Amino acid sequence: MRRLRRRIEFFQGTLDSTSEISEARIFDTTLRDGEQSPRTSFSYEDKREIASLLDDMGTHVIEAGFPVNSEAEFEAVRDIAEATATTVCGLARVVDKDIDAALDSGVEMVHVFASTSDVQLQDSMHATRQEALERSVEAVERVTDAGASCMFSPMDATRTDEQFLIDVIEAVSEAGTDWINIPDTVGVATPRRFYEMINTVCAHTDADVDVHTHDDFGLAAANALSGYEAGAAQSQVSVNGIGERAGNAAYEEVVMALESLYDVDTGVDTTRITELARIVEAKSDIAVPANKPIVGDNAFSHESGIHAAGVIENSDTFEPGVMTPEMVGATRQLVLGKHTGTHSVQERLEEAGFEPTEAEVREVTRMVKDRGAQKEEITFELLKEFAREVGVQREEVRI
Ligand code: MN
Repeated sequence: MRRLRRRIEFFQGTLDSTSEISEARIFDTTLRDGEQSPRTSFSYEDKREIASLLDDMGTHVIEAGFPVNSEAEFEAVRDIAEATATTVCGLARVVDKDIDAALDSGVEMVHVFASTSDVQLQDSMHATRQEALERSVEAVERVTDAGASCMFSPMDATRTDEQFLIDVIEAVSEAGTDWINIPDTVGVATPRRFYEMINTVCAHTDADVDVHTHDDFGLAAANALSGYEAGAAQSQVSVNGIGERAGNAAYEEVVMALESLYDVDTGVDTTRITELARIVEAKSDIAVPANKPIVGDNAFSHESGIHAAGVIENSDTFEPGVMTPEMVGATRQLVLGKHTGTHSVQERLEEAGFEPTEAEVREVTRMVKDRGAQKEEITFELLKEFAREVGVQREEVRI
């Protein structure tokens, strides 16, 4: 598996390079929470294609769906479990028929969940705390008795009474769950508070801990990383961050922060991240914003004169250095426009085989800036047109 290591020599300065995280696993929920994005539906073929790429990239767990949901969902989960080498997980409420459907689909892991916050117990699950606790224990026992790996989620954990949450965690741990996932279901956690919470959870269970964070306040990736720092072994992410409402922690953001900022070897083939993002963008019909970290069109693009000139000399001047476009299978772009300086123009003209004088570079740069200011896209073709207009000489063909 190909892995391009961060270039640690560029990680000097006010931030030190101590790693707070030693190991980190990745649980992908693009096909489950991701598909629950408003107005998104993956076809059977889409699901197979996305799962296959996630598997090839070394993702530790793929949550393939909610098998009890429909016959089609059941078949997709079953076929993904069959076709992939990695652990496949199916979701289930703490309801026998849900758990049986997940078990029948052949997944290695069943992810059972029950609401634990009072607001959800009352107005969504319609159960008392005691009922939720008892049904959770029974569900965990049903899964483990069947020989499958079990993950238990106290849904809306971040709005749950702390003592009740601990009671539930201790009870399901006693019942033998392999994993406890702490979901920030509605995205209200902050990094420091979430750190404290995961620390507390880890102190009350021997099960492995995993976190599921939402991006309602743009904190999903930060909270996931906080979870790892506090002792979680895994976090749940989705490609491009798609999911309920504002979405989940983004696969690409969490993986690259772990690899580049924390120097953790996740085992994920990061060089296919851009390819993965493009496929999920196309299949989900959710456009990736240009300024999206890692996978947006602007993530490795430079236009302004000072930045582009620096990057031409050494890309580490105005990029993180610890993360390069090559590491994520992207390419660096020097965009021409209103903010362009002479270095970019000279570089691009020379690439096109011109041999401009300094005065000609300045003249073409002025034309680029003028047209860019009119919001026109300065394509390579247009740049060549400007060069011909100015009368820039072409390079002699050398033998
Ligand atoms: Mn969720």
